[in-house]
Amino acid sequence: MEKRGREYRGHVVVLPYPCQGHMNPLLQIAKRLASKGLKATLATTHYTVKSVCAANVGVEPISDGFDQSGFAQAPNEEVYLEAFKATGSRTLSELIKKFENSTSPVNCIIYDSFLPWALDVAKQHGIYGASFFTNSATVFSIYSRVHQGQLTLPVKLEEMPLLIPGAPPLNFPDMPSFLKFPEDCPAYLRLQLNQYSNLEMADWVFGNTFEGLESEVAKGIWELWPGMLIGPMIPSAYLDGRIEDDRGYGASLWKPLSDECMKWLETQEPESVVYVSFGSMVALTEKQMEEIAWGLKGSEFRFLWVVKESENGKLPEGFAESTKEKGLVVTWCNQLEVLAHQAVGCFVTHCGWNSTLEGLSLGVPMVGVPKWADQMTNAKFVEEVWGIGVRAKEDEKGNVGREELQLCLREVMEGDRSQEIKRNASKLRELAKEAINEGGSSDKNIDDFVGAFVGWSE
Ligand code: UDP
Repeated sequence: MEKRGREYRGHVVVLPYPCQGHMNPLLQIAKRLASKGLKATLATTHYTVKSVCAANVGVEPISDGFDQSGFAQAPNEEVYLEAFKATGSRTLSELIKKFENSTSPVNCIIYDSFLPWALDVAKQHGIYGASFFTNSATVFSIYSRVHQGQLTLPVKLEEMPLLIPGAPPLNFPDMPSFLKFPEDCPAYLRLQLNQYSNLEMADWVFGNTFEGLESEVAKGIWELWPGMLIGPMIPSAYLDGRIEDDRGYGASLWKPLSDECMKWLETQEPESVVYVSFGSMVALTEKQMEEIAWGLKGSEFRFLWVVKESENGKLPEGFAESTKEKGLVVTWCNQLEVLAHQAVGCFVTHCGWNSTLEGLSLGVPMVGVPKWADQMTNAKFVEEVWGIGVRAKEDEKGNVGREELQLCLREVMEGDRSQEIKRNASKLRELAKEAINEGGSSDKNIDDFVGAFVGWSE
């Protein structure tokens, strides 16, 4: 390519779906690309733009049609997603145009795979489009089978196990909930399936996972799509133990109220605390909240429990006050900092993909309490494939009882298998670090992507 003036390495616009579990990894890829010399701009909705704090990344608003409060302002998911597609396409296109006559025109849109219309915008402007998948390669593979007509919905017990090369046989309980009960959340199911609607037009497909974790499963995917594994999309400072450099991902939709939990963790013994969080979206039943509460109180372990404000009313009355001596309940925390703290010995998690990646990349043994979406599939891997934790058994109503929780905590913290679980967790931590450190498999893939832009000039 002809060079004019000072060489620069290209400009990517990164478009996340505006919820916590998607903004975190997409902001992270923007930061990583910026650190490799690309200009990176995060295009995010008006409602979320104020939550982003990223020194080396530009931040520009686009509209989902609900600029005041985002999704909460929409009457339902269907209306929200339609409005986002229409208004988002238009405002994203305007943003690309705004840069067209600048010194840094946009070369590529990296879009959340939940927003495939962004690829159409990229093609209209004659620039590259890269789809970023925020779930595991296995979950990618499962949904792609539905898209290709190899799995019909709802998936049935008698059709199981599902065999995916590189994964253990997947049984009915391991399948994503949307495929078992498609009528429960039709809008979310459509969101998952639409990821593939125009994927063959994408110039790259990024997976937030890594070689040491899912290389075999990924091989099967790359036969069909131009993919690369670039994860884990976690600030490398945390993996290197340099926490003070960086505080979280830099896009918190809720803020920790104070540094209370970090101060509290400082007063605890190494590997003595159970950290409990169900991520940003899961709503637990009142019964489930009660069982966790009494399970934690009755266990011999110290605990730090994130109970979102919206869930607070489901806590047994006076619970936080009555357990002050051994536990702390907070409405939100900086999860990366908590998981990286030496006092944390176990992570009770819903197994959202980001939480799973964070736990394993930071070497923290887990108790999986999955509730919906892809969490069951991730929990299966935590227990059976990677051996870094256990999956708690549910009763017939889908709740994990207090005794079961205590049993799992003992097994992971001090039981016969705890040493092996800890060893496996430490091994994965090393593999995650290796993948994203300079010259590692994910780092090289990112370099290959960046290499496609070298030679562009201002
Ligand atoms: N998280 C956080 N503080 C909390 C709870 C969660 O920062 O108190 C972050 C967590 O680090 C993760 C994200 O929120 O990156 C949740 O994503 P995940 O995929 O685990 O679950 P989701 O919220 O999408 O169900």
